[in-house]
Amino acid sequence: MTFAATVLTLYPEMFPGPLGTSLAGRALREERWSLETVQIRDFATDKHRSVDDTPAGGGAGMVMRADVLAAALDSVAGAGTDDRPVIAMSPRGRPLDQQRVRALAQGPGVTVLCGRFEGYDERLFEARDIELVSIGDYVLSGGEMGALVLLDACIRLLPGVMGAASSGDDESFETGLLEYPQYTRPVTWEGRTIPEVLRSGDHAKIAAWRKHRAEVDTRLRRPDLWERHEGARVRSPSGARRRDEEV
Ligand code: SAH
Repeated sequence: MTFAATVLTLYPEMFPGPLGTSLAGRALREERWSLETVQIRDFATDKHRSVDDTPAGGGAGMVMRADVLAAALDSVAGAGTDDRPVIAMSPRGRPLDQQRVRALAQGPGVTVLCGRFEGYDERLFEARDIELVSIGDYVLSGGEMGALVLLDACIRLLPGVMGAASSGDDESFETGLLEYPQYTRPVTWEGRTIPEVLRSGDHAKIAAWRKHRAEVDTRLRRPDLWERHEGARVRSPSGARRRDEEV
């Protein structure tokens, strides 16, 4: 099955962009995913082909018009059905995480709406079934980079794109933790040696070391993730039992 991506944007020339190279580019040529862009401006109705107007209530910048965006969206076949969700990139959306990415990658595809200017007329979200997604707590100049990020995260999970590496349970966020640190040859570099345990060949000891480092690094670097991880453990007795049995 091909993962079908449709991107609504004022800058279709930004696609596939970086997704035309490396793993994603190969997967695109192999038709593991498909890409369609829709130029939002094609759905403008006035003679100036305007897609934006001044904000109601005053203030800086311009706001994307609901009527033009809805017309663009309604032109996409299959968009907005449960299987193929419509996602609008927005700093006001729910932060994207690996769980959402994994669910999307398992589905038939996604339609992504890229904002520009100060954002969208809010009525669009009342009138259509649209999920707002943010890629982090900072503001971009447009949704296109966000769409590239979202699609890249999905594409690497598609069957045949990365092989075993992307399905690994150890990867950051898959277990609710960051991944353990990695090392490779040379064994000694600038006087620093790869931790002894990783060269021991003792798989049980290696697994224990990795689990420990994943926990320590998550606790130190991402106290928010750690708290959620610990919370889940307390809340779910079966999960707690499973972990206890491992020790
Ligand atoms: N005035 C808005 C920001 C608009 S930025 C606000 O303060 O909330 C213009 C467009 O860039 C947005 O419509 C969105 O599509 C995109 N964008 C900006 N930051 C983003 C983020 N963190 N995640 C996803 N999209 C973002």
